[in-house]
Amino acid sequence: MGQKNVLVDSGTGGQLSPDAGLMMKNLKAAGVDAKSIDTILISHFHPDHIFGLMAKDTNAPIFPDAEIMMPAREYKFWTDPSILSKLPKAFHGLAQRIQATFPKWKNVTLFEEGERDLLPGVRALPAYGHTPGHTAFHINSGKEQLIIAGDAANLPALFLKNPNWHLVFDGDPKAAQETRVKLFNRVLEENAVVAGYHFGFPNAGKLEKDGKGFAFSSFTG
Ligand SMILES: [Zn+2]
Repeated sequence: MGQKNVLVDSGTGGQLSPDAGLMMKNLKAAGVDAKSIDTILISHFHPDHIFGLMAKDTNAPIFPDAEIMMPAREYKFWTDPSILSKLPKAFHGLAQRIQATFPKWKNVTLFEEGERDLLPGVRALPAYGHTPGHTAFHINSGKEQLIIAGDAANLPALFLKNPNWHLVFDGDPKAAQETRVKLFNRVLEENAVVAGYHFGFPNAGKLEKDGKGFAFSSFTG
């Protein structure tokens, strides 16, 4: 047990907004040497999840020695040579940056669609909708389960309480809604701990049914 240090997503790398980008500092504060990370799992390719993999001006890999595991479905979407003609202009820079980096990196591995084991105790859960290959992760340790929901629900008070509401960043709102209901029902069925990226801090806690949606109570530390 505990043979590998696994990081899920890489944050903004301090390249999106001045009040984000503290992951490296926080890793250090938690006593984790960034060089000791063996594997990085990527949920999807929005900037706040992948820019931390790339140096600000040079795009140099920040984690050249870690294996970076990505959903093949997400990778295929963003690296499709014709993608620029299909994406709104606001996403062109992101697609270009992805195309200039990931295909050249030797430490990227892709995992195929569907629910599948990635590492001992770690499974990929398809959670398509927010982006084409958006993936949640299921972490299992004995009787305890954790579901890292990625961006399947952005703000719990809005999108868990009202799973049929749509977030502007959801690429395919209908698929995102179906995913949201399915994924968070699974959290309840498994009595899992759930973590979401934009849930506020601490971003992990438990769910309860609340009307047609869910109520999230975060652990208080
Ligand atoms: Zn996102």
